[in-house]
Amino acid sequence: MQKHPIKENLPHALREAVGWGIAQGFIRSGRRAAALRRYDGPDTILSLCAHNPTPSVLRSLLAWLTAHGFRFLSEEDILGGRVPSGRKAWLSFDDGWAGFDTELLPVLEAFNAPVSLFIAPEETRRGFLWTNALMPYCPMSGIRALYALPEPERIAAVAAVLKGKTPKMLMSPEAVAAVARHPLVRVGNHSATHLSCSDRPVSEVIDALRRAQETLTDWCGRAPRLFCYPFGHRTPETDAAVRAEGLHPIGLFPGIDRLSSFGAFRNMVYDDMSLAENTCRVLGSWIPIRRT
Ligand SMILES: [Zn+2]
Repeated sequence: MQKHPIKENLPHALREAVGWGIAQGFIRSGRRAAALRRYDGPDTILSLCAHNPTPSVLRSLLAWLTAHGFRFLSEEDILGGRVPSGRKAWLSFDDGWAGFDTELLPVLEAFNAPVSLFIAPEETRRGFLWTNALMPYCPMSGIRALYALPEPERIAAVAAVLKGKTPKMLMSPEAVAAVARHPLVRVGNHSATHLSCSDRPVSEVIDALRRAQETLTDWCGRAPRLFCYPFGHRTPETDAAVRAEGLHPIGLFPGIDRLSSFGAFRNMVYDDMSLAENTCRVLGSWIPIRRT
């Protein structure tokens, strides 16, 4: 999910200029530098999430982080307790959009940056992500109303709206399987169908998690270790269920841990933000002016 009211209501250039100007205030007042110092502590890892950024946005952000002393960790480094001292960042991508393998992976290679890639395999198999596919045709309130529907009804409703339309595509299952074999990539569980886990019974959540785990293990030759909540919708009950399945639950919204107790600041990378704004935002220099 990447759209939000601000993006829809303000022309892109104006929003970017305003965001850049506010970021300059945070930079000049020293708040970004203060935020940066939070990551000097041994237990704090900068936790970044992206969807399908342009290669240039990703490259400039990774270059900035590298220039400011960050090292990039893999989920295995973190889960295995192999966490060095100094500034550290963990990168993750949600959904597996088309172009990750051809456009973004070369950027990650250039920085030797490991990444966790969260896949909802039944969406991948169909080719698109239901929420993003509906956005051009449905108000967000209509999409949110579908969160509460049982899975077969939701899938049928989405198919009816999208009949004859060509949504923006995800990577193919073959492409996911291929990138899963790249040494920098670990594929994580994003549920089978990108359901809202807080809106459905826990039994349905477990079923969607297990189906995804089985499919992804088959595609990737390795069982995912992390579960990323679609939309960040989680409850204490779903967290307990995810852990009982042997997976680590990962949050979504800023301020919620991305990886256990380590990812204290899990933040989104946006395409329509300047580098100044993206750096202020991912470091937690300000209260986000947009929600995911
Ligand atoms: Zn997602």
